Amino acid sequence: MISENSEVILTVRDLTAEVDGTPILKGVNLEIRAGEIHAIMGPNGSGKSTLSKILAGHPAYEVTGGEVLYKGENLLEVEAEERARSGLFLAFQYPLEIPGVSNLDFLRVAYNSKRKHEGGEELDAFDFDELVRERLSLVKMDAAFLNRSVNEGFSGGEKKRNEILQMALLEPTLAVLDETDSGLDVDALRIVADGVNQLSKPDNSMLVITHYQRLLNYIVPDYVHIMAIGKILRTGGKDLALEVEARGYDWVLEEAATGV
Ligand code: ADP
Ligand code: MG
Repeated sequence: MISENSEVILTVRDLTAEVDGTPILKGVNLEIRAGEIHAIMGPNGSGKSTLSKILAGHPAYEVTGGEVLYKGENLLEVEAEERARSGLFLAFQYPLEIPGVSNLDFLRVAYNSKRKHEGGEELDAFDFDELVRERLSLVKMDAAFLNRSVNEGFSGGEKKRNEILQMALLEPTLAVLDETDSGLDVDALRIVADGVNQLSKPDNSMLVITHYQRLLNYIVPDYVHIMAIGKILRTGGKDLALEVEARGYDWVLEEAATGV
């Protein structure tokens, strides 16, 4: 349950950003505390993926104003790789395929890089194999996926499950899931949501970006934010997602325009 006293994990303040000279984010404000699940919903093109890419440190997006604090530190000054090592995890809307790199090797390198950063022992191939097999069950993935190239030829649902597997291994402090539900059938959706729910703990937080309300039947957020035209126009509890399902997004834009 939410506590006003829990640690602030992420603060986004008046964030503005552009791509190729086009302003995309126009003043985003967001605060996420430990233990909370936040959802961002909004029409296509509203800037949701832009926000997630900026959090991950994507070089194509230029921050033009505002600030982002992660665990109290200026995130925007931290290299992308360092962000990942410090517990920030992004599940991409379109997971990359990496031909020629085995999924198992990829996962082990990522896992050990984070372990090393935390001052822990790196796991050898044998111990890592044991760990990854245990985590596979969380996403109901077959071990055969470990020996294939990362995401190569995976179906949409398999790629998304693979993202959740990465997350289960890396145990991030802040996980940003960008449309992890898109293209999933209901069984895959449930598996992904179960994985997220099992990984949600009092000391970590989740930012779930979604276009559709249906994911939020399975992952129950503490807060729902509606983003449109580069801003968060409205914040509410989980019922706000149901209101969007029933009424669409136009009323949020209209109320924002008339200052209601
Ligand atoms: P969402 O995830 O909410 O659908 P995006 O953040 O992907 O929205 O995109 C927001 C807007 O930014 C869109 O109008 C999109 O066309 C534009 N945009 C995003 N990336 C780029 C890019 N690399 N170059 C030009 N425009 C971009
Ligand atoms: Mg998007």
